[in-house]
Amino acid sequence: MTDHIAADPLGPQAAQSPVGEAQAMPLVRLGSHDAAVAQLREILTHISLVALDHECADASVFDTTLDAAVRHFQQVHGLTVDGIVGPLTWRRALEARWRLGDRPLQLHPAGDRQATGDDVAALQRRLSDLGFDCGRVDGIFGTRTDAALREFQMNIGIAADGVCGPQTLRAFTNLARAITGGRPEALREAHDWDHRQTGVFGKVVVIDPGHGDDDPGCAANGITEADVVIDIAERMEKHLAPQGVAVLLSRGRSFHHGRALDDAARAEFANSVAADAVLSLHVDETASPAASGASAFYFGADRHGSRSDSGQRLAESVLTEVSGLGLADLGTYPRTWDLLRITRMPAIRVYLGYATNQHDAGLLADPEFREALAGALARAVVQCFTPVGSTAAAGHASG
Ligand SMILES: [Zn+2]
Repeated sequence: MTDHIAADPLGPQAAQSPVGEAQAMPLVRLGSHDAAVAQLREILTHISLVALDHECADASVFDTTLDAAVRHFQQVHGLTVDGIVGPLTWRRALEARWRLGDRPLQLHPAGDRQATGDDVAALQRRLSDLGFDCGRVDGIFGTRTDAALREFQMNIGIAADGVCGPQTLRAFTNLARAITGGRPEALREAHDWDHRQTGVFGKVVVIDPGHGDDDPGCAANGITEADVVIDIAERMEKHLAPQGVAVLLSRGRSFHHGRALDDAARAEFANSVAADAVLSLHVDETASPAASGASAFYFGADRHGSRSDSGQRLAESVLTEVSGLGLADLGTYPRTWDLLRITRMPAIRVYLGYATNQHDAGLLADPEFREALAGALARAVVQCFTPVGSTAAAGHASG
């Protein structure tokens, strides 16, 4: 690892926010011919995923080698593996360029965009392995990372200025490399979660019905995703509120009145109300009408060994409940989508069947099924907050 602040390998423009930058990048995929493809190739080569810079006649052509590299990149970064480089894959690729030491890292003033990137994740990994609590290894330099960094600096006797620069990097290098992490942040998260398992009474749960306003989501077989999920969300509220849960919906029924919230805004909402858990409700669609069933996603990716164990538990609990109703259990998976990554509490996104499948759509069109589904989702939430060993949640078999 470098122990000095190197010049940015990709030029001064790379120092800009990857968010703004990513929005300016065109969507590219297998077969695309665009100058941006050459830049993508350069980024993936730079982060040494594969040697993409040789045996390539035209760097701006998106060939099968690049397609395989993109899919691998998406896999290890917890993105949807489709080979399509849209805004989210661009953003992650731009973030992945950063190596610890490429630039000084510190907390930006409130209101400014915080530094994001693989260098931030690497810093968090190191701090966490050394026992300094910076929360999740999410690649976002927030207040908790700042506090952990200052504590680390204080502990090793250097200026606790919260800047990860040459001096701090040298300190990391000098520390025993033998220290290996057992994902201590995951142990802490489990500990935090144990403390929240005091029953569902008094908990704040954000239910996030996907899409809305000018975005109907997917529509097929007579159902529209945005309508289905708001209905289920409102029914969930009726199940949870009587048990003392403060249920907050990220959006109402207001349809066609404005722009739909993006995932980052929904995550910020959950953070602002200090939610104890977030459930984002969606319906899936796909080209194959045979695809059917429910799946659930929680925060995590193979890179940097980051994963939300409590999110995974909530996801598994939801699928167990839902699959008892006639929707096939398609499994739970880690992803780094904004809603899962930016939220500071266990958050999951659930796909409640496929609109493109006649069986699933038929179920979702039926108000009685939606009521049963809402009950099942509510039970999963209650289950997750029930103290381990308690029998309080065992009486739902007849529900
Ligand atoms: Zn959706």
